[in-house]
Amino acid sequence: MSFEDNIAYITSRMTKVAKHWGMDKPDTNIIAVAKKQLPSKIKESLQCGHRLYGENRVQDAYKVWNEKDGFKRDFKDIELHLIGPLQSNKAKEAVALFDCIETLDREKLADALKAEIEKQRRQVKILVQVNTGEEDQKAGVLPNDLDKLLAHCRDIGLEVRGLMCIPPVEEPAGLHFSFLKELAERHNLQETSMGMSGDFEKAVPLNPTYLRIGTALFGERLN
Ligand SMILES: *Cc1c(COP(=O)(O)O)cnc(C)c1O
Repeated sequence: MSFEDNIAYITSRMTKVAKHWGMDKPDTNIIAVAKKQLPSKIKESLQCGHRLYGENRVQDAYKVWNEKDGFKRDFKDIELHLIGPLQSNKAKEAVALFDCIETLDREKLADALKAEIEKQRRQVKILVQVNTGEEDQKAGVLPNDLDKLLAHCRDIGLEVRGLMCIPPVEEPAGLHFSFLKELAERHNLQETSMGMSGDFEKAVPLNPTYLRIGTALFGERLN
């Protein structure tokens, strides 16, 4: 299946689910998650007019997307999201490359991002990743610590626009998506990023800002 077919299919599912829930038209954007995919497939998607992408590792993403000899050289309107964990010492590279960082989850990283955004004078949108399932191995701020992290961001003048989550694999995703939406509303945050290839239909009724879809658009990842 081509990228064009796959995105048409996902869009039609989105529209159907939204309609079922009495929603007019979802204003949800599809992030094409490009990690570990062939450059030829990414190129095909760019040629279809897609411009919104996600990557989970700074180093890998740099090779593919940089403005010197990556896709950002030829396609100036690409919007690239970091959806994987970020170490504070990579904040510089991340701020230089990404247009949105979805995985802020601690104060030290907030400080590093704020400093780099000022230094580089770049517009970078920030979302906070919430570990809604409170899983030990998973990145994200614990729900109980969200207040404190958001207060810290306000104190240092780092604007947070929304929340992102990755539900535990063995739990119903919809519960986590509803919880994330509730947290966002409670904190007056406009945006949410939720839903992947296997569970995006559960996210659509909550009208998320972003779905993050990889394999359902590009096929299986390379190793
Ligand atoms: C890889 C990844 C995705 C996409 O996963 P698919 O199942 O291929 O759609 C979405 N979000 C995050 C954070 C990821 O790392």
